Amino acid sequence: MSDLFGGLGGLMKGLSGFMPQDDPDVALMMAGSEVSDLQKQENDLYAQIGKQALAQGRVQFPELEKKLHLVQENLSAAQGKLQNAQAGKREKNCARRAEEEARLCPSCNNMNPEGVKFCQECGARLGAQKCAQCGASLSPGTRFCGECGARQEG
Ligand SMILES: [Zn+2]
Ligand SMILES: [Zn+2]
Repeated sequence: MSDLFGGLGGLMKGLSGFMPQDDPDVALMMAGSEVSDLQKQENDLYAQIGKQALAQGRVQFPELEKKLHLVQENLSAAQGKLQNAQAGKREKNCARRAEEEARLCPSCNNMNPEGVKFCQECGARLGAQKCAQCGASLSPGTRFCGECGARQEG
């Protein structure tokens, strides 16, 4: 019975000690392997129940059904974890893209270090430019707002 809960899941748990826990890719992989592990256990139990039902002509297997319910509970918890991990990965990707966009120079494409306001290569202003007057988004280097005509500084 112990090999039912070992296998790939045990291997992944062992490996996880060497991997960064906050990495969304790792969290996703762990949750994915947990889900497929539990789905396999669920299928195994269904197969056992089916086999015994045929062999013994019974339809009630309280022991196996109890195990099946436990596995199904764990499975739905693991599926929730997987969804969280997927959402976490999407969020992190979005944040990273926005952060990279803010560092990428619009005029010379230099990737600047975090937190700088002007390109270290050409001095162009970094990040999305907004009209100081009306807040409209402006393309980099715009001198007059296309929405309200206000003159832009920098
Ligand atoms: Zn630049
Ligand atoms: Zn404006």
